[in-house]
Amino acid sequence: MYVVWFGQQSSGQSERRVGLMNCCCYRVPVHREMHRYTIRCAGIAFFPATGITKVIESRVFTVYELSQQVLRTDAAGMPLEWINYQDAVRFYHAGRVAYFLGAPVYRLRGGINSRTGMRSEIEVNAIVATHGTNKTLTQRYIPPLSNRTLFKRDGRVCLYCGQHFMTSMLSRDHVTPLSQGGADSWKNVVTACKRCNNHKAGRTPEQAGMALLAIPFQPTHAEYIYLKGKRVLADQMDFLRSHFPRKSPLRHREDGMQDAATTKDHPDLLQ
Ligand SMILES: [Zn+2]
Repeated sequence: MYVVWFGQQSSGQSERRVGLMNCCCYRVPVHREMHRYTIRCAGIAFFPATGITKVIESRVFTVYELSQQVLRTDAAGMPLEWINYQDAVRFYHAGRVAYFLGAPVYRLRGGINSRTGMRSEIEVNAIVATHGTNKTLTQRYIPPLSNRTLFKRDGRVCLYCGQHFMTSMLSRDHVTPLSQGGADSWKNVVTACKRCNNHKAGRTPEQAGMALLAIPFQPTHAEYIYLKGKRVLADQMDFLRSHFPRKSPLRHREDGMQDAATTKDHPDLLQ
């Protein structure tokens, strides 16, 4: 008996036969939503003796676009970096993956083995732990400062007027201005809309009579990894959150975001 997998065509065409080998699964996107696809497959059994074919199983998968990043950790579970699908496959292929966590995000196929007739396949999960431990990440680690991560730290809210803005409307404000000896460091910079920043000019908030809505903080390495993430899946977020300091402002903010995301029926995605 052979089992052939058919991917259901999104265009409404009839099922497409893709091969005659055990569990050769070929999937076609049938529904796209927020960078992920729901894919429906049918397993068809073929009995050569009788020529009878029969649907024996139907499966629905969720996979993500290849732009979805994978969270890499060391073997001790310390978050290290975001990697793309090519790097993730390289780690799997080189035998450097110690274990993996979270839901599968994509399944990649290679060539067909001429001896076995089987197609190689690697399933990549949301979180991949590689062998070894990173000893360079100490308490004294200072993440590099960039506007993108700074704006994300502050939730893209101007810390003077409290309004939410698009990235293009935001700027980096030095609480103690550089001209008054302030440093260009995490604890002295906040997100400000261009209007508030222009109004404050080269003055401290006290000198300008402007109240600061939150105290700027320096993220830990795990918080910084979160800030660098482009689309953080719910299981990646849960993992990172478990490494945040207990009183991390991001921890509480993301709790609220996750609730909001769930109510919008996008439980897997946190932008
Ligand atoms: Zn403002």
